[in-house]
Amino acid sequence: MSETKKPETGYRPATEMVHGGAMRSQWGETSEALFMTQGYVYDSAEAQEARFNGEEPGYVYSRYANPTVSMFESRMALLEGAEGARGTASGMAAVSSAMLSCVKAGDHVVAASALFGSCLYIVSELLPRFGVECTLVDGTNLEEWKAAMRPNTRACFLESPTNPVLSVIDIAGVAEIAHEAGAKLVVDNVFATAMWQSPLALGADVVIYSATKHIDGQGRCLGGVVLSTEQFLEEEFKDIHRHTGPSLSPFNAWIMLKGLETFPLRVKEQTLSAGILADRLAEHKAIDRIFYPGREDHPQADVCKKQMRGGSTMVALNVAGGKEKAFQLENALKVIKISNNLGDAKSLITHPATTTHQRLTDDQLAAAGIGQGTLRFSVGLENVEDLWEDFEQALASL
Ligand SMILES: *Cc1c(COP(=O)(O)O)cnc(C)c1O
Repeated sequence: MSETKKPETGYRPATEMVHGGAMRSQWGETSEALFMTQGYVYDSAEAQEARFNGEEPGYVYSRYANPTVSMFESRMALLEGAEGARGTASGMAAVSSAMLSCVKAGDHVVAASALFGSCLYIVSELLPRFGVECTLVDGTNLEEWKAAMRPNTRACFLESPTNPVLSVIDIAGVAEIAHEAGAKLVVDNVFATAMWQSPLALGADVVIYSATKHIDGQGRCLGGVVLSTEQFLEEEFKDIHRHTGPSLSPFNAWIMLKGLETFPLRVKEQTLSAGILADRLAEHKAIDRIFYPGREDHPQADVCKKQMRGGSTMVALNVAGGKEKAFQLENALKVIKISNNLGDAKSLITHPATTTHQRLTDDQLAAAGIGQGTLRFSVGLENVEDLWEDFEQALASL
């Protein structure tokens, strides 16, 4: 999210997150209305026919579209600088419906191997069951992407920074390779957030979010969103979205819509704290290694500078002494809670090898850079000094 004005409206993003996409009912409510309805009624049979055949604009069924969901989608499109957005029931509904929109039997997909466990399942297990082959590559190595492309490659998929160790993939580089081969690039931008990275501007064709994370930001609802051109959303995505049922609940859309009002403030503050804590943790003798995209010692520091406007709200750390010490550290923390979620107002820490990435084999864990001492830390909105003191007392007890 840069601070430049949106050409569509003439306002800057923080303003759009408060007002963008709002549609007022005849009551003139200040806060966006929650249209908790499955269906819609019509003045006449003729009006219903016109609505169904597209002669009259309007809603027909909330599996297709709903006014509260529409407001969330419009606000997300403004945030991302995308032509369009479609809400989904979860981040995984966004990933699966977006990927299904890109491929058919006989096609081929290339994906970075360092993926969220469920994303890895979609590309490496689910798609192959339907005749779509998948090649996994080290996402940080552009030569591997190039070598993996085939005449029938239709989609490339990546997360950057990756979950959990925050490796950064050159999105513009992969987009160029994908486009040369006639494939679309789909980017899961959850860890960067729209605040710090704009994959569409870097050449990606589709961006997906788990809105469950920073967009809600307060740990309440599941949700997701797919952002792309109207052409992709109407021609490739629409039928899969309408007829397989990954629709976003109006209630959850309303939570997400209100979450977006404070999204810029929250993400800025959480990123500021994450940077401070990453630097202090890096100096601690009980920590072997810190992974943070804003630091000079990040393995892809040059790519970070090129494509990210800020660091991340996430920090990964390797605790000296493996799983035993990592568990001890988690158990000794008081303010920071043990949880596998992220992007919350509450600081959360998890041990990926035994939780989010438990499905991975030892080889896959190693390929993803996840050790037995690796912890993933999602920085919340608590005072940064309280978070540091929590780490200090917990590290002292090891
Ligand atoms: C959480 C997450 C998802 C899945 O989102 P859900 O809302 O839990 O379905 C996908 N990708 C990344 C990177 C995530 O962190």
